Amino acid sequence: MILPLSLAALAMTAIVGVRYLLVSGGFALATGRRHPGLYAGRRKQILREIGWSLASAAIYGVPAGVVAWGWRARGWTLIYADVHARPLWWLPLSVLIYLLAHDTWFYWTHRWMHRPAVFARVHAVHHASRPPTAWAAMSFAPIEALSGALVVPALVFLVPIHVAGLSAVLAIMTLMGVTNHMGWEMFPRSLVHGPVGRWVITASHHERHHRDYRCNYGLYFRHWDRLCGTDTGLGRFAHEPRGQGGDGRRAGAGAAAGGGPGGAGGPLDRRA
Ligand SMILES: [Zn+2]
Ligand SMILES: [Zn+2]
Repeated sequence: MILPLSLAALAMTAIVGVRYLLVSGGFALATGRRHPGLYAGRRKQILREIGWSLASAAIYGVPAGVVAWGWRARGWTLIYADVHARPLWWLPLSVLIYLLAHDTWFYWTHRWMHRPAVFARVHAVHHASRPPTAWAAMSFAPIEALSGALVVPALVFLVPIHVAGLSAVLAIMTLMGVTNHMGWEMFPRSLVHGPVGRWVITASHHERHHRDYRCNYGLYFRHWDRLCGTDTGLGRFAHEPRGQGGDGRRAGAGAAAGGGPGGAGGPLDRRA
């Protein structure tokens, strides 16, 4: 049992690592085409982001590998392969439940990570990228990586999901993790600044978290930030001309608190 388990953990680590390199590499290439020079002079930062991300790949790979092995060899988990095993409407609903559950976990653990006693040890690695690049998607210190790595492997024991639904969740997780850090907005302005963007997080929203620290903590959705007064609206990228990007909304205490290393209180959320 130990050998197949170890092999599954190793294989999953390799899959997560290669997936990271391909997706982040692909969007880094796209960034070079779309905004030439955006990552210029940031070689050292990018190498650091890649190093931490590959270490995180192992932390993500081990629990995922163990659960995948348990699913195939022992029938663990509520993952199902026969699409007719449950009503078809459950498929999109289960994907939404996974995203909402992950988002909730992320929001509250993220606020915890911004507490002064926790930030330096747990979350400073992720914020060392100022601003981050497409390579920063998994640039986490080990405790932060572990907190993210356990969510989906835990959910598959609690909420039934079809393999295709699970693949969709993982694809969304990977895609948003990379694109929210790549330094520009890939979605059309009409979506980002329209009704969808008011509730769904894209790069413009997360950019502001990396700039101001004490706001915009969410992962996929904005409802927790809105409910808790930590949503300060959309950010504006340095390459965007004034008047473009940013929705100017400064709601709640997050904005009032200032933030960022140059702001009052530094990168630590004393309210969290
Ligand atoms: Zn981030
Ligand atoms: Zn943060």
